[in-house]
Amino acid sequence: MRWVRRFSKLFAVFAVALLLLVVTGASDRLVLYARILKLYTQTPDTRLAMPLEDVRKTAIADTWQAARGEGRKHEGQDIFATRGTPILSATSGYIYNIGENNLGGQTVSVIGKGGRVYYYAHLDSYARGIHIGDRVTTRTVLGYVGSTGNAQGTPPHLHFGIYTSSGAINPLPMLTDRLPPTATRQETRPRSQLINRKA
Ligand SMILES: [Zn+2]
Repeated sequence: MRWVRRFSKLFAVFAVALLLLVVTGASDRLVLYARILKLYTQTPDTRLAMPLEDVRKTAIADTWQAARGEGRKHEGQDIFATRGTPILSATSGYIYNIGENNLGGQTVSVIGKGGRVYYYAHLDSYARGIHIGDRVTTRTVLGYVGSTGNAQGTPPHLHFGIYTSSGAINPLPMLTDRLPPTATRQETRPRSQLINRKA
């Protein structure tokens, strides 16, 4: 019965390895990697939901690639709002990173379709209970507007950036308002003018 002993030994090794994987959270990582691999096969989003619900796209001053000193260029857009305004994910995807760095302060990164990484920076605080690997939708709150990192001393704003495998791209053309559209100019014109336009 040597083979039984060998098999049970093999099984024990396998069980211990599996247990270690679960205990160390490595299995969660593996699941996340599998999900990320799937995202890479999908076409990137071309329309993004405004991360701050009540801000209109027209309110954003385009500062893409603006000089930021020391030869650095602005790799995103700044969206200004009151401190503590909730930041919603602009896309669906998974939380890729939660962490602090010198420039961005408190930041959250979400990985979306096509493997694009959406970067939210200068957060005053993180949404409670968010973890790396969590699934997010455009209704998920990631954190709250602040001025952490190199935004200290400036009016609170969200720095929003998008990173593709070939570098940063401008988020502004892709952003779409969450607010319902305001009455268009045509609707507010007198009726007579509308008739004239038709002619
Ligand atoms: Zn910025």
